[in-house]
Amino acid sequence: MKPLSFVTPALKRGVQIGVLSLTALLAACGSSGPFKFDDSYSAQGQNSRVRYLVMHYTAGDHATSLKVLTQRDVSAHYLVSDERRPTVYRLVPEERRAWHAGIGSWYGFTDLNTGSIGIEIVNMGRLADGRWAPYSAAQIEALKVLLKDLAQRHGVSPRNIIGHSDVAPQRKLDPGPHFPWKDLAQAGIGRWYKEPQARALQAQYATRPLPSASQVQALLRKAGYETPDSGTFDKATQNVLAAFQMHYRPARYNGVLDAETAAILQSLD
Ligand SMILES: [Zn+2]
Repeated sequence: MKPLSFVTPALKRGVQIGVLSLTALLAACGSSGPFKFDDSYSAQGQNSRVRYLVMHYTAGDHATSLKVLTQRDVSAHYLVSDERRPTVYRLVPEERRAWHAGIGSWYGFTDLNTGSIGIEIVNMGRLADGRWAPYSAAQIEALKVLLKDLAQRHGVSPRNIIGHSDVAPQRKLDPGPHFPWKDLAQAGIGRWYKEPQARALQAQYATRPLPSASQVQALLRKAGYETPDSGTFDKATQNVLAAFQMHYRPARYNGVLDAETAAILQSLD
């Protein structure tokens, strides 16, 4: 059974319009226009503009998510539904920019909408009682197929498969602590840390002090996160640490440095 299906009326329409207008233009330029197109050569020097894959939850149900992402000034390339066999909506063609990341930074790159593909997953996010809505196994299986294909076609490096909270830790929590980054990494998707090395380092911290705030801030920057350079565990640094913990150690994401977090930070590739 295929884990996902695609819905593409918008894409089909876009392609048809593109073909029609190009045909019209070629006809206009055919024999008497000011120039003619020649498609018989293709440059060797080219690659995809997509360098990042950014994950989100919609914090809404299926119908609401579809409505918000198609009728307002927020969008994503893909929307994964929460049906038993998920539908993957293709809302924005991969070549075009979707409006999903907003202000953010990853390894110093800030124009994330231009350089990324955005993937929204139907999930309610944090619930009124403080717990988090789970992702279904079917959604994760669909994501694995989708992300593998996207990463391969666009040549996206593992460290650039990230969450909204990774690129905007001061204002975003999605895709949240239930997003299965480790599970995806075991399927060959995204970055993970060297677990034996982290365990050994964590044990060493029983008898030696944890890294200083300055050292932690430098390590977070090295991991891709935009982090203050204050030399203290200020609120902004705690927010970055919490985003890091949600991604790599979701059992506790309070933004407080502990031995395990320090060990993981030093065991990333
Ligand atoms: Zn988001």
